[in-house]
Amino acid sequence: MPGGTGLERLALAGRGKRLPRAVATRLQPAASRSIAGGGERMSEKGSTPNWIEQAAPPRSYRSLFKWGDPLGFKHPNHGMLALLKETFGMTDADFVSPQRTGMEDFDAAAPAALEERHRQVFERLLGAENVINGAYECTRASYGAGMIDALRLRQHIVENLPAAVLAPRSRADVEALLRYCDEQRIPLYVYGGGSTVTRGMEAVRGGVCLDLSRHFNGVLAFNETDQTITVQPGMWGPELERLLNDAPQTLGARDRYTCGHFPQSFMHSSVGGWVVTRGAGQNSTYYGKIEDMVLAQEYVTTRGVLQTAPQPRSATGPDFDQVMMGSEGCFGVLTAVTLRVCKYRPQHTRRYSYLFRSWPEALAAGREILQGEFGLPSVFRLSDPEETDVAMRMYHIHGTPADSALRMLGYRPMQRCILLGTCDGDPDFSRLVNNKIAAIARKHGAFTLTPFGVTRKWEKGRFTDPYLREDLMDFGILIDTLECAV
Ligand SMILES: Cc1cc2nc3c(=O)[nH]c(=O)nc-3n(C[C@H](O)[C@H](O)[C@H](O)COP(=O)(O)OP(=O)(O)OC[C@H]3O[C@@H](n4cnc5c(N)ncnc54)[C@H](O)[C@@H]3O)c2cc1C
Repeated sequence: MPGGTGLERLALAGRGKRLPRAVATRLQPAASRSIAGGGERMSEKGSTPNWIEQAAPPRSYRSLFKWGDPLGFKHPNHGMLALLKETFGMTDADFVSPQRTGMEDFDAAAPAALEERHRQVFERLLGAENVINGAYECTRASYGAGMIDALRLRQHIVENLPAAVLAPRSRADVEALLRYCDEQRIPLYVYGGGSTVTRGMEAVRGGVCLDLSRHFNGVLAFNETDQTITVQPGMWGPELERLLNDAPQTLGARDRYTCGHFPQSFMHSSVGGWVVTRGAGQNSTYYGKIEDMVLAQEYVTTRGVLQTAPQPRSATGPDFDQVMMGSEGCFGVLTAVTLRVCKYRPQHTRRYSYLFRSWPEALAAGREILQGEFGLPSVFRLSDPEETDVAMRMYHIHGTPADSALRMLGYRPMQRCILLGTCDGDPDFSRLVNNKIAAIARKHGAFTLTPFGVTRKWEKGRFTDPYLREDLMDFGILIDTLECAV
C-alpha cells in the first residue's frame, strides 16, 4: 500500500509432507499454563486432538525449538481445528499421534572443538565461565525460531554450529574478541534473543558466537528532557517496556513512557535484535519502525568503534545509523543504542474494528485512511478474506446467529475482510483519528464490530499466537510468520 503499512500475520503455509511418526503413544497432560485466549477442547467424543501439554524435557530437542515460556501453550480452538480439517482434508485420525515431537534427549555430536590456543585466549579474556562449549549450547546459539529451524530440530538435523559461545561482559571485551578473531580469521556471529527467522546467526563457517543476552542488558542513560533512553542491546523487550512504563519508580522520571515497538516476538526478543534486523512492530503505523526510533548507536567493528551522535536529524549524508540498521551483525556488534521514547497513556487508547464486504472495498478504505493526512492510527491491521475467516473462527463468531445475520447483509465468508486497530497519543488526537476511521469505514460499506470488543480479543492473544505452531507441527501442518505488503 503506497505510504501505508506492511501487514504481518501468521499464515497457514500449507500442509507439509507428512513427517515420519516418532511418538506413537499418547502423551498425558501434565501441570501446564494455558495462555489466556487459547482454544477450548473439542466436545465430540474421540475428536479431541492429543495436544501436548507438558514442558519440553530439559536438554531435549523440543526445549530448543519450543516457542516462549516452557509452560506456555495455546491450542487451536474448535473453529480453527474445523478449518484446518476442511482446508487440508484431514480427519480426527490425523490428530491422534503427534509426530517428531522432539521430546527425545538432545544427542547431537559436539561441534569441532575450539583449538586449545584459542580457548586459552578466550578464557583469559572473559573468564572460563563465559566460554561455553557443548553441542546443546552451541545449537541454541546457532538456531533461531523460524519454521525451518524447528523442522530441522524435529528431524534431529544439527549442523553449522559454532565451536564455542562467548559471553562478553563489557565493550572492552567485545573489542578484544573482535580484534583477536579478526587477526586469527575466526568467523564470529552474534546472539541477541534468538528469535531470528532468517537464520541470521547460523554458524555456517564454524567459529564462535557472542551471546549478548547474558551481560549486556542494562540501562546506560535516560534523558527525560529529550525523551531518550540508552540501553545495552541484550535487554529483552518486556524489560525495556516495564522500565519505561514504570519510569517514575524505575528511572526517577516525572512521567510514564513507552518505546512503542511491539513485534509479535516482543516477549522473547532483544532490543539489539530489533535494531540490527530493522524490525517492524504491531504499533509501527503510529510510533514508527525501529529505524524511526533509533537516535544513536555504538558498534564495535574490526576497524574500531563506530559511535553515531544522538541528533534528531542531519542535513548531511550518508546516514550511518541507517546503513548499520538491518546489517544483522555483518558490519559490527551493536553494543549500545539510544531510542526516542513516547508518553505512555493507555487511558487514551481508542479501539476500532470493522468488517468490509470485499477486499477491494477494504483496501480502498485502508488507502483513504493512511493517505488522509489527519494522523495515523497506532495498530492498523487489515486482513484478507482467508485471514478474516481464520479470525472469525478463532473469535467464535463463525456459525453464530450474528454470523448468519452478517451473511444475510452481504458480509460473506471468504469475501469479507476485517480491519482492526487502535489510536494512541493525546486524547484529542486519538479521538480525531478514530472518528475519521469510522467515517471512512462507513463510506466504504463497513459493518462496525467496534462494540463487540474484537480488538480487545486480538490484543489478548497478540503475543501468544506463535504457541499454536508447536501443536500444528506436531500433526504435520507447517505455520510461519510472513511479512507482506499490498
Ligand atoms: C513468531 C515470530 C514472530 C515475529 N514477529 C516479528 C515482527 O512482528 N516484526 C519483526 O520485525 N520481526 C519479527 N520476528 C523476527 C524476529 O523476532 C526479529 O527479527 C527480532 O528483532 C530479532 O531479535 P532477537 O533479539 O531475537 O535477535 P536474534 O535472533 O538473536 O538475532 C537476529 C539477528 O541479529 C544479529 N544480532 C543480534 N544481536 C546483535 C547485536 N547486538 N549486534 C549485531 N548483530 C546482532 C544476529 O546475529 C542475527 O543475525 C518474529 C519472529 C518470530 C519467531
